[in-house]
Amino acid sequence: MPLQNCLWWATAPQLKSYGNKPLPAKADVVVIGGGFTGTSAALQLAKGGANVLLLEAKTIGFEASSRNGGQALSCLHHTLIETIHQHGRDLAREMFQAAVRAADVVEHIVSEEGIDCDFVRCGSIEAASRPGHFERLQREQETLREVAGFDVQLLNKSEVQNELGTDFYHGLMVNPRSGSVQPAKFVQGMAMAAERAGADIHEGTRVRSIERVKGFMDGTRFLVQTERGAVAAKEVLLATNAWSGQLIPQFRLRVFPAESYVIATEPLGIDQASKLIPKNRVVYDTRRVLAYYRLSPDRRMVWGGELTLRGAQPKTNIRALQKGMVNIFPELAGKKAEYYWGGTLALTLDENTHAGQIDGIWYSMAYVGHGVTLATYLGQQLANGILGKPIDNPFADLSMPLAPPYQDNAWFVNIGKLWYRFLDLLG
Ligand SMILES: Cc1cc2nc3c(=O)[nH]c(=O)nc-3n(C[C@H](O)[C@H](O)[C@H](O)COP(=O)(O)OP(=O)(O)OC[C@H]3O[C@@H](n4cnc5c(N)ncnc54)[C@H](O)[C@@H]3O)c2cc1C
Repeated sequence: MPLQNCLWWATAPQLKSYGNKPLPAKADVVVIGGGFTGTSAALQLAKGGANVLLLEAKTIGFEASSRNGGQALSCLHHTLIETIHQHGRDLAREMFQAAVRAADVVEHIVSEEGIDCDFVRCGSIEAASRPGHFERLQREQETLREVAGFDVQLLNKSEVQNELGTDFYHGLMVNPRSGSVQPAKFVQGMAMAAERAGADIHEGTRVRSIERVKGFMDGTRFLVQTERGAVAAKEVLLATNAWSGQLIPQFRLRVFPAESYVIATEPLGIDQASKLIPKNRVVYDTRRVLAYYRLSPDRRMVWGGELTLRGAQPKTNIRALQKGMVNIFPELAGKKAEYYWGGTLALTLDENTHAGQIDGIWYSMAYVGHGVTLATYLGQQLANGILGKPIDNPFADLSMPLAPPYQDNAWFVNIGKLWYRFLDLLG
């Protein structure tokens, strides 16, 4: 099996190509990176009347945005309790409510632009892997209601079978506002919508540097140097997520790449699929090294996370994913993994999303497994800021802790996963 055999690529229509066009010499706004953040921003900017140029090093959505689990989550990576602990009650509420709005915005864009990406408001399940974790979910439910006015449903161990065909978990929390998408179709659809609205999209155009310039009468503030020439821009929006540190030195030691891997089984029968996840929700568990999973539209079990490591042989990671899956659903033993792929997400040591402006350059990144919704939302919100409209961004100006130094390979991610797995074993 090749290393990148991604189910979403195989089941998306022929990709539109945005190559081989001459690069313009100037634009009002240059958006760098063509994932959810960049395509959503370009769409909003073009609709707002800006002359916008989107530059993508590879092809639209080629990185995390087409390879993820497709869970369109209506919440943050941290629990609201943890978020309050880190940022105080008011800011935590704003962050959480932004994540809820983010899922609404995904639905709105899909419907307004007529994007065929299998979007369903199926709800998400957070599954308690240990008895103590269910108590945590109970406290979180109370906090969500009290602080954010948000209702989730709790199911105790005896009720788990209503939602998942397994005896493994100690209870569940159901968030009814989350959804699922076919991510490759969604990011392609946003790019096509942006182009329809007037955005000029160029693939195969890697940006090498962003230079600040002064003295231009037409408002030019930046020269964006690319492999295909320079572009003058009034505004620049950095949407390069895990690679942001290559263009902004301040991010280099703070935002780092981390890999996550996924398998998709052969298609399951209708009866089996509806026994395992009867309401077709997306699922993740409460461990630090967690599993995230769902059924694909063609009823494959799509299973990601677990103790998969960068640099490991594909068969080692596939085995770790299959072992985790069979532990929860023993009847999937023997089901072939027909697809296996990996992708790179951006992390910071505080595991928070960061968005705002640095030296006049807009940026948004590090969604910690919640980028389907948050990247789409914050791309749109930063675009509003550029257009001079009101902006909702509670993730601005958060301090970013320093990470250990690294070159291409953030070597400490594998070590961190092994440490977290050890802590998971303790409880
Ligand atoms: C395996 C996996 C599973 C995941 N599962 C989920 C999930 O279920 N739900 C969820 O919400 N999130 C999930 N995520 C995270 C989610 O995919 C990301 O948060 C989201 O895609 C980030 O979007 P983005 O546009 O910011 O970044 P990306 O999609 O990574 O896009 C950045 C783009 O910038 C381009 N680029 C980089 N450098 C340059 C340069 N110098 N010049 C020009 N272009 C450049 C890259 O080629 C890339 O296309 C998962 C991620 C992975 C890897």
